[in-house]
Amino acid sequence: MKREKKVDFKSLLVTNLHKLQLSARRKFLELKQSDSQLPTDPLDRSSLETNQSMAFMIHDRERLAMREIENALSKIDQGVFGICEICGCEIGKERLRVSPASRLCVRCQERLEREEKTRRFIPANAV
Ligand SMILES: [Zn+2]
Repeated sequence: MKREKKVDFKSLLVTNLHKLQLSARRKFLELKQSDSQLPTDPLDRSSLETNQSMAFMIHDRERLAMREIENALSKIDQGVFGICEICGCEIGKERLRVSPASRLCVRCQERLEREEKTRRFIPANAV
C-alpha cells in the first residue's frame, strides 16, 4: 500500500477513535447524572438499572472498538496495516474504508463467522 493511503487511514482511525472517546465520555456523564437521582419507586428503579447495565454493555463495545482502532494504529506504525492476520494477504481497500480497524480479509472473516456459527449451533442441535 502506498504511503499516502496509510496516512489517509490513519486520520480516519484517529477520527473514529475521537468519536468513540467522546460518546463514551458523554454516556459516562449521563450515567453519573442518573446515579445521583435514584427514584424511590422500585419499578422505576429496576428500569433504571436495566438502562444502566445497557449503558455498560454499550460502553464495553466501545472500549473494544477503541482497542481495535489502537491496534490498527500501531500496525500502521509497524508497517503491517491492511494485512490479514490469518492468511497474510492484503485486505481490500473498500473493506478498510468501511471499517479501517479490520484485522482480517473478507474471506477469512467469513470463514471465521461460519465456524463460530457451527460451533454455536451443534451443541443445541445435538440435545
Ligand atoms: Zn485472510
